[in-house]
Amino acid sequence: MCLTFFEGKGYSSAFTAHTAVLLARLEGEDPLIRIVSHTDEVCAACPNNEGGVCRTAEKVNRYDGAVLALCGLCDGAELRWSDFARLVRWHVLDAGKRDGICGDCEWNSVCAEHRF
Ligand code: SF4
Repeated sequence: MCLTFFEGKGYSSAFTAHTAVLLARLEGEDPLIRIVSHTDEVCAACPNNEGGVCRTAEKVNRYDGAVLALCGLCDGAELRWSDFARLVRWHVLDAGKRDGICGDCEWNSVCAEHRF
């Protein structure tokens, strides 16, 4: 869900550079992706990633769990990036449910500027 709103801001310059490359690859190649409940490719350059464990895992798990439940997906699901992005768009963003999931996030003001 966060990638929908990515505009070059993030936890560090390394994190934002990595995220920009990753997002371009996802949108350009539309690869098959696997949903995982632990740190993943998005986390590779994040300063909150401490040896494969997210320092804010409680918050992330709460957000991710809510998004996946609304999308009818679970840990380990495999699907095309575009199909995943479409499910998030339909079931969370277009449904007006984003704020209820992650309205307490430190980045909420960035995402709240977008209208769906
Ligand atoms: S889940 Fe944690 S480690 Fe991964 S990108 Fe988010 S804050 Fe960083």
